[in-house]
Amino acid sequence: MAIACTQEQFSPFLEEFQTMAHEVLDKWLEGFRPFFESEEPPGLEALSNHFQKTRSEFMSACMQAAIEKLFPHMIEQTQAPCPRCGKSLSRKRSDERKVSTMQGKFSIWRPYFYCADCHHGFHPLDKVLRLAPQHHQHDVQRRVVKTAARVPFAETAEQFEELSGVMVGNHFSHETLNAVADVAALENVIPQREEINARIQRATVASGPPPVLVVASDGAMTPTRPQAPRKTKRGRGRYREVKGVRIYLIGPEKRIIHVASWHQIQEADEFTEDLIRIAERIDVSRVRVALLGDGAGWLWNAMTKAFPQGRQILDYYHCAEHVWKVADHLYPEGSLEAHEWAEATLVRLCLGKIKETVADLETLNPRDTQAREEVQKLITYLNNNAHRIDYLENLDAGYAIGSGGIESANKFISHTRMKRSGAWWIVPYGNGMLRIRCAMYNGTYDRLFNQYAGKASLKVVENK
Ligand SMILES: [Zn+2]
Repeated sequence: MAIACTQEQFSPFLEEFQTMAHEVLDKWLEGFRPFFESEEPPGLEALSNHFQKTRSEFMSACMQAAIEKLFPHMIEQTQAPCPRCGKSLSRKRSDERKVSTMQGKFSIWRPYFYCADCHHGFHPLDKVLRLAPQHHQHDVQRRVVKTAARVPFAETAEQFEELSGVMVGNHFSHETLNAVADVAALENVIPQREEINARIQRATVASGPPPVLVVASDGAMTPTRPQAPRKTKRGRGRYREVKGVRIYLIGPEKRIIHVASWHQIQEADEFTEDLIRIAERIDVSRVRVALLGDGAGWLWNAMTKAFPQGRQILDYYHCAEHVWKVADHLYPEGSLEAHEWAEATLVRLCLGKIKETVADLETLNPRDTQAREEVQKLITYLNNNAHRIDYLENLDAGYAIGSGGIESANKFISHTRMKRSGAWWIVPYGNGMLRIRCAMYNGTYDRLFNQYAGKASLKVVENK
C-alpha cells in the first residue's frame, strides 16, 4: 500500500490536523475555568494532578485526528485486492476499533473488506498501523511488561495506573509478560556478536594487554511449584536452583562493562549447552578470560567446556566464607582467636601456600566431631580447588578474584523478583520471567519486544 506523499500533497492534511488539534485543545482548556473562577487558586500539586488526570482527553483526541489525517486514503479506501487471491474487492463496511495507548483511549474507524472466495476478511489500515490484537496497544504492552518484570503482578496494575494513567488489569500484565517471554530465547536475550565486540572495544586500552573478560557463575535457590489445573489444590512447592552466569569486562579504571547475563532454572547439562552457545558470540582472541565461581562442580564443568582457555579462579568470598566457618568451629564464635586464625589462614592462601595450609589443618585437634568434620570439608575444598587459588598473582595480572559481580547479578536478576513473599513459580513461567529480566539487563529487551510485536500484528491481519 503506497501511502508515501510528497511534501506538497501532504501539507493540506497537516493543516487540517492542526486545526482539529486546536479545537481539541480549546475544549480541554475550558476544563481549567473552575481554577480561574475560584476564590482560592490551586496549589502546584493540585494543578499538576489536574493535568495528569485530564491530559489523555486532549492527547487521545489528537492521536485520533493524527491517524485520520495521516491515512485519509486508507480511511476513505473503497477498493482493495484480496491478499490471498488478488481479486479486487469492494469495501463492505466501516468498522470501529477501540484502542488504548499511552496517550489514552480512542476509536479508529476503518474500512473492512471480505473475499467470499477465500472466506477472508481484513482491515488494511490495521496492518499499516501495526495494531496489536489486544485492546492495549504495543506502546502500553512494552511498558507494562517491564513494570511486571520489576514488581509483583498484583502491584503492576496499580503502579502503572498511578504513573501513566493507563488502566491495565493484573491478568493482562501476566498474560503479556508470558507472551513476550515466549519469543525470548537465548539467541535474542544475549547481545549479538557485533554488540559484544563493541563492548570489548570500549574496554580495550590501545597500549595495554587485552581486557579481562570475567565469566562468573553461581546458583541461587528459588521457590517453585508444579502446575496444577485451576481450582485444584496446588502441589507442594520446592526450592530449585537458578543457574546463572554473568559475563562482564573489566574496563579502564577497573570499571565493569556488562556483557551478558543468563539465568534459568535448569539442569547442569542444559546450563553447559547454553554457556557454550553464549561463548560462540564472544571473540576470545581479543580478551583474557577469567572464570570465577565457588566450589560447585557443575559450574566449573560448564565454564571450562565453554571457555577452555579461561583462567580458573576460586571466588575469594566463597573461599573466605569456608575459612571463617571453620574458625568459628575451632574457637568460640566471633572470638579474637577465631578472627586471628581466619585472617592468618586467608593471608597464606592469598600467597598461594595451599599445601602448607592443608598440612597445618591436618595437624589440628578440633574440639568436637562437628569441628572435625568442618576441618575435613575445608581440606577437601582446598585440595579440589588448589589450582584456582592464586589470588595475589591474579590480582597483579589485573584479574578479578571475587565474584561480587555474579552475587549482585543473582540478587538483581533472580532474588528481587523471584523471592517475593508468597511467590511460588511454575518453572516455565519462572524461566520466562528470568529471560525478560536478563534481556532488560543485557540491553536487548526492546529488540525482543519488537520481535514479539511484529509477530502479534501479523497474527491479527491473518485471523480476522
Ligand atoms: Zn481472495
